Amino acid sequence: MGLLELKKVSKRFGGLTALSEFDLEIHKGEILGLIGPNGSGKTTTFNIITGFLEPDSGNLIFENKNITKLKPHSIAELGIIRTFQLANLFFELSVFNNIMIGFHNSAKLSIIGELLNTPTCRKREKELNRKAIEILKLTGLEPHKDKLARNLSAGWRKTLAIAIALAAGPKLLLLDEPACTLSPSRVDSVMNLILKVRDSGVTIMMIEHNMRSIMDYCDRIVVLNFGKKIAEGPPDQVKQNKDVIRTYLGL
Ligand code: ADP
Ligand code: MG
Repeated sequence: MGLLELKKVSKRFGGLTALSEFDLEIHKGEILGLIGPNGSGKTTTFNIITGFLEPDSGNLIFENKNITKLKPHSIAELGIIRTFQLANLFFELSVFNNIMIGFHNSAKLSIIGELLNTPTCRKREKELNRKAIEILKLTGLEPHKDKLARNLSAGWRKTLAIAIALAAGPKLLLLDEPACTLSPSRVDSVMNLILKVRDSGVTIMMIEHNMRSIMDYCDRIVVLNFGKKIAEGPPDQVKQNKDVIRTYLGL
């Protein structure tokens, strides 16, 4: 039984079919890689899963609940959280405060209560501080917690984007090119963080162009081409699939 299932999901933009009867199952606890050439429908898949786009047909089932028609905020509340290709950080805030904002993305905080600064809210604030420190430790950001986000290196910015997503309490974390623009050593540190996040109980689905990280770190890979699934399986198997070699790896 998958954590999330896409059942024959299709999406057209005018005459263009971005996704065509896409069946996908994400298993609890795995790192699933979604790959394919430019324009093959990867980001569209993320936009549909997170409710930013509604499919033309097909269904999405998350923890046995049909989420096909839900709005983005409801989907986030269920625990499906994404990071963006261009990290959406608050550059003029500290690392710590960026993470605090991440908590607010998960809603469930009463704005009124916070304005009134009620005892419950002060207690909640303490709890959030404790959680923020946990996230800082897990991600290795603790020594940088007082730095402004804009003063972080590219690698730490990527890490912070993941930290902010973690603050929202994901069950399923969607990462759009977590390693893009990073040097090889930074790629490995971000990928190792993703492994740690998975080991902490979060299921991961990532889009990534860096073949080495896809092959080294994913449990399973799904390959899209022109909106259609052309292969899926463990890295070793996908690597040898003739359609994948021809249409994607260009070998
Ligand atoms: P990928 O992320 O794999 O590069 P996308 O999912 O972004 O691909 O895009 C799939 C196809 O759908 C592309 O041909 C793209 O131009 C088109 N597309 C994506 N989003 C839109 C949109 N909002 N309006 C029109 N066409 C879109
Ligand atoms: Mg894309």
